[in-house]
Amino acid sequence: MTNRRSTFDTRNWQDWRWQMQNRINDAEALHDWIEPTEDELAAIEATEDVFRWNVTPYYAALMDPHDPTCPIRRQVVPTMDELEPDLTGTKDPLEEVAHSPVKNLVHNYEDRVAFCVTAECAIYCRYCLRKRMVGDADFFLRKDEFEEAFDYLKEHDEIRDVLLTGGDPLTFNERRLEWLLGRLRAIDHVEIIRFGTRMPVKLPYRITPELCELLAAHHPIWLNTHFNHPKELTDDAAAAINRLKEAGVPVGNQTVLLRGINDDAQTMKRLCEGLVAMRARPYYLYQAQVIGGTAHMRAPIERGMAIMRALQGRTTGFAIPKYVLDTPFGKVPLNRSYVRGRAGEHVVMESYDGQLWAEPNPLPDALSNGKALDYRLPAVEIPAEAATISPETGRFVEGAAAT
Ligand code: SF4
Repeated sequence: MTNRRSTFDTRNWQDWRWQMQNRINDAEALHDWIEPTEDELAAIEATEDVFRWNVTPYYAALMDPHDPTCPIRRQVVPTMDELEPDLTGTKDPLEEVAHSPVKNLVHNYEDRVAFCVTAECAIYCRYCLRKRMVGDADFFLRKDEFEEAFDYLKEHDEIRDVLLTGGDPLTFNERRLEWLLGRLRAIDHVEIIRFGTRMPVKLPYRITPELCELLAAHHPIWLNTHFNHPKELTDDAAAAINRLKEAGVPVGNQTVLLRGINDDAQTMKRLCEGLVAMRARPYYLYQAQVIGGTAHMRAPIERGMAIMRALQGRTTGFAIPKYVLDTPFGKVPLNRSYVRGRAGEHVVMESYDGQLWAEPNPLPDALSNGKALDYRLPAVEIPAEAATISPETGRFVEGAAAT
């Protein structure tokens, strides 16, 4: 096993198209970068039909070749845990399909939409919220499907904010992006366009001067990216953020709380302070969604709340993200104003408009005696009017009292 980065021409290495064309997507190629474990090798084969697998050479070069617990490696290399029974996990915990009036356009909040313009990503994060569609050819949009989405946006003048997401919208080339941004800018009531992209993390060379020029020509453009660990804060990533800032694009960051990757206060503090140093604002810390096959990556909500307590007062105020859970009732801030307590395997909380939600969030076995939890929620009952995702069927149910 050799780390192959040193064997590549620098011009190739920094060419985002070359990186996309040379992504690692089989076990043989992976051997060039790390010493895969038996479990990883078995999982690459066993998850083939479950969720796509691809890693850019740039991101692969960040992996520890000898340590399977490496936080970079764990985000992108499959393990057999993904195939363990995950009764809590579902495919679409936010009911995005039900909230899509036309294909791939999620209209959940009155004045804004999430427009999943592609199902393609440069890497496939093993905990991805949109595992149900990402990497799946059925979710690429045809031209006429784009037109249906534009028509919907034109007809709904209450929509002032369009989030371009996916997949990763920056897998589109400049020509396609120019067409897309031009069509959106032709709709008068669309005030801001936001990008949700992991490119600064997994392929910072995608943030080219040409791309920045194109974004600057369609302002106001905002961009949220998705760093999860301080190891991802490389000089190349900082340079990409800098190019975006010079083009006048505000950059925020959304981190997902991941067990064994960033679920400790020290790692989170280093991450947030590193982001601020790069001028990317830590925006949200997301509780990982109950996506099937990700139980081994989800942390107890108490762990996230303890991290937030540990950050408060101990770093720059704007280095502290807001810890939230996305639910079909909208985002719920995970603090004691909204979280009522723990009811066995659920955490009970209120949405911004007072609806009750019981999130399936069993304590992992290793923590179930409570000793490893540095923060405890009061015990509560699940109120009869609470809604939840049924642990048996993975379906959203109301008034469930899912005991
Ligand atoms: S980059 Fe985002 S959309 Fe793509 S696989 Fe990762 S989390 Fe999912």
